[in-house]
Amino acid sequence: MKLQEIKNIDIFAKKIFIRCDFNVPMDEYNNITDDRRIKSALNTIRYCIDNDCSIILASHFGRPKDKYDEKCSLKPVAKRLHTLLKQEIKMAKNVVQEDTLKVAKYLQAGEILLLENVRYNKGETLNDKEFASKLASMADVYINDAFGVSHRAHASVDAITKHFDMQHRAAGFLLAKEIKFFHHIVHKPKRPFVSIVGGSKVSGKLQALYNLIPKVDKILIGGGMAFTFLKALGHEIGKSLVEEDLIPEAIKIIQEAKNLGVKFYLPVDVVAATSFDSEAIAKLVTAQEIPKDWMGLDIGPASALLFAQALEDANTILWNGPMGVYEMDKFAKGSTKLSHAVASSYATTVVGGGDTADLVRRTGDEDEMTFISTGGGASLALIEGKDLPGVKALVIEDK
Ligand code: AMP
Repeated sequence: MKLQEIKNIDIFAKKIFIRCDFNVPMDEYNNITDDRRIKSALNTIRYCIDNDCSIILASHFGRPKDKYDEKCSLKPVAKRLHTLLKQEIKMAKNVVQEDTLKVAKYLQAGEILLLENVRYNKGETLNDKEFASKLASMADVYINDAFGVSHRAHASVDAITKHFDMQHRAAGFLLAKEIKFFHHIVHKPKRPFVSIVGGSKVSGKLQALYNLIPKVDKILIGGGMAFTFLKALGHEIGKSLVEEDLIPEAIKIIQEAKNLGVKFYLPVDVVAATSFDSEAIAKLVTAQEIPKDWMGLDIGPASALLFAQALEDANTILWNGPMGVYEMDKFAKGSTKLSHAVASSYATTVVGGGDTADLVRRTGDEDEMTFISTGGGASLALIEGKDLPGVKALVIEDK
């Protein structure tokens, strides 16, 4: 797959529309608590400034109900961009109303206009052609640098691309990096290729599991989803999270792994508690001895050791989903131990998914990973083997 990239098209002195992902976490006073997503957009923005472009930035933020909602305004993002870029950011009052289109029209080289939250307009999530056409009318060139929403067929990601030919639409530096990493890891991994899959439910990752099994050498399952597999193997799992209707699928996946010679690992011990509560009494039990009234909320130390050993010869590791309820300290040990094991391996390590990215930041292993994806849903869609609507329009060749 070859992407059209910003560095390969002529953008000199042009008006550029950049779709970013500024959906950053904020506290109750609208203070940005983590500006990583804004910082990771700066490469593309600075490249455009250096090329004498005038720049229109667009992003969604939260889930407003198709109208102005102060809580979902991008004004705090404008402030942070101003601090980071040390230049004025013109903040639009809306998305595509006359006054904003006028500011966009007279934008000078090096100037930046940040549109208000694109989701204030219901045309955004409906992938509305008319809304997309208004957005497109502001610029000569369209750049998508918002990996986190590229799996959504939304107007500023999908419909807008129809208004620009291949010399006038491209991926920004961040999007190109994300896509290259995932494409490479899924299609040309250095073996042994080990995938760690965790998180709450099998249903959320079923498609990803089916797509991964034929590609990996080993698969390690943890988190809440492990209990559907353990139950499928006949274990008592007490009150642990389970999807009874997916037990036949779980058996099919285990069988598929066996047929393909893929080593399939499940936890051998769990930290069980009497309730889903950080104050609950917890104890360590083997996977064979989970009491009826208890629930497994983390993998135990023997599983963490087993998984770490299975990772030892890995040359590629793809990790999506925590091993337990890592948000509660009591049930974070399994995920923490695995994070350290992944971080200390010599493999190419790719972490995808919002929770797993958050986890490796908490464990302090962030800098030891080869790549951490900024988009949870989008990275899962890529692992599932799906085409991303926002990326499809930017592909030159599909090999
Ligand atoms: P997902 O969004 O499917 O990747 O799931 C992430 C969530 O799974 C996290 O919020 C964890 O707290 C949760 N989780 C992990 N292990 C368990 C478990 N054993 N029981 C219940 N929830 C879990």
